[in-house]
Amino acid sequence: MSAGEEDYRDALAAAAGHARQWLDSQATRHIGPRVTAGKLVADFGGPLPKEGMPAAEVVDYLAAKAEPGLMAMPSGRFFGWVIGGTLPAALAADWLVSAWDQNAGLRFATPATAAIEDAAGAWLLELLGLPEESDVGFATGATMANFTGMAAARWRLMADAGWDLDGDGLSGAPRIHCFVGQERHDTIDLGLRYLGLGRPTVVPADRQGRIIPAELDCALDLALSSANGLRPAPVLVCLQAGNLHSGAFDPFTEAIAVAKAHGAWVHVDGAFGLWAAAVPELSALTAGLRQADSWGTDAHKTLNVPYDCGIAVVRDAQALRSAMGVHTSYLIQAADGAGDPFEKVPELSRRARGVPVWAALKSLGRDGVTGQIRELVQRASQLAEQLSALDGVEVLNDVDYTQVSLAFGDDAVTRAVTEKIIGDGRVWMSGSRWQDRDILRISVSNWSTDDADVRVAVDTVRDALAAVRG
Ligand SMILES: *Cc1c(COP(=O)(O)O)cnc(C)c1O
Repeated sequence: MSAGEEDYRDALAAAAGHARQWLDSQATRHIGPRVTAGKLVADFGGPLPKEGMPAAEVVDYLAAKAEPGLMAMPSGRFFGWVIGGTLPAALAADWLVSAWDQNAGLRFATPATAAIEDAAGAWLLELLGLPEESDVGFATGATMANFTGMAAARWRLMADAGWDLDGDGLSGAPRIHCFVGQERHDTIDLGLRYLGLGRPTVVPADRQGRIIPAELDCALDLALSSANGLRPAPVLVCLQAGNLHSGAFDPFTEAIAVAKAHGAWVHVDGAFGLWAAAVPELSALTAGLRQADSWGTDAHKTLNVPYDCGIAVVRDAQALRSAMGVHTSYLIQAADGAGDPFEKVPELSRRARGVPVWAALKSLGRDGVTGQIRELVQRASQLAEQLSALDGVEVLNDVDYTQVSLAFGDDAVTRAVTEKIIGDGRVWMSGSRWQDRDILRISVSNWSTDDADVRVAVDTVRDALAAVRG
C-alpha cells in the first residue's frame, strides 16, 4: 500500500468513527452548542502551522475540538428554524460524492453523476406533479433555487418584450414589475436584488400569511395601468408554498389565474412546502401549484438530505439555459438535447449534490417519501394539540403542515420561555416575530422525530413556562 493509500484509509476510518459517535450521541445529548464561535477560534486558529499533520490526526483533532461547538441539528428533538435531519442513504451518498470528486457540470465528462441527477430530477417532477418537460437544477439551497427560477423569468420576460438582455443588460430595459405576498421569505427580495429587479410590490396577506388573490388583482391592475404602454407588460409574481410561521400555502389556483390574466410569469417559493404535493391528503394545499412557471425548493429541509441542496424547476427550459448557460468553446456540450447540468444552476464547477437526493428517493420510494412528510405533519398537529391544552399556551396558526407558532401571553413572557427552553437543552425551538408578536416557533422537519421526542418537547415547554411563572 502506498503512503497516499494509507492516508486515505486512516483518515476515512477516523472520519467514519467520529461520524458514528456524533450520530449516536443525538439521542441523548444537550441540543445546543456549549461554547461560542469566539471561544473556539483559538482552538482552530492561531498562526498557520509551519509543519503539517498526518491526515487521520487532522480528522481526530477537528472532531474533538469541534464537538462542544456543534448544534444537534440531526436530532429528532431539534425543532429550530426549518432544518431537516439527514437520511442514512443520503448521508452515505454524500460521502461518496466527495470521494468520487466529480466536477459535475458537464454530461460528457461526468456521465454517472449527470445520469443520477437526471433520474433524481425526473423522479422529483413525478413525485411533486410538476410538468415533465421542466428542467431541474441542483443549487445550494432555496435562496439560489428561487434566484435561478426568477433569472429564467427575467430572461423570458425581457425576450417577450423584445429586449436583448444578454446583449444590452438592464440599463434602459423595460421595467419588470415584481409582486410578492406580504409574508414571503426575505430571500425572495434578495434574489430580486441579485437580479437588479429592485424592490417588489408587496401584496397584503390574510391571517395565516396567504396572499389575497383579490388584492393581487388590484395591485396588478394599478401597476399595469401606469406601465408605459408595453403589452404585455413584463410581470413576475412570486407565490409561496409553506409560510415560515404558519406553514400556510398561497391559494395557487386563484392567485395564478389572476397573475396569468395579467401575463405574468409565476414563480413559487416552496422551500419546505413544495413537498406537500407528494401527499394525497394534502392536495388541497397545493391545488393549482402546477400552473406556475418555476418552482424553488430545498432538499435539505423536508426531504432530509445533507446541506447544501436546493432544487430549481423551470418549465421553460430555453429560458433557464439562456439565463444560466455559459456558451464558450472549451465546454464541450452534450448533443442529445438533455442540457448540461451547468446550464441549470448559477455554478459552473460544483459537487454532484443531486446524488444524495437520488439516494434519499431510492431508499424511501414513493411511499416512503409520502409517509415521511405525512408523519412530519402528524407530529406538528400532535404538538399543537398537546401544547394548546396547557394553561397559558396559545397556538397562533392553523396547523395544516409542519409549523407551529406559539405565544405565552405577552411578548416578555414568550421571550423568557423561549430562553428557558434553549437553556434547558432537551429540545431546540427558535423565537421569532410574527404579526407584531414575539412567538416561539416549532418546525417538525426531521424524519427521526418520534412520539418520545414529541413528549419531551411538550414537557420542556411546560417546565419552561412553569419556571418563568415562578
Ligand atoms: C429556508 C427558506 C428559504 C431559503 O432557503 P435556503 O435553503 O436557506 O437558501 C426560502 N424560502 C423559504 C420559505 C424558506 O423556508
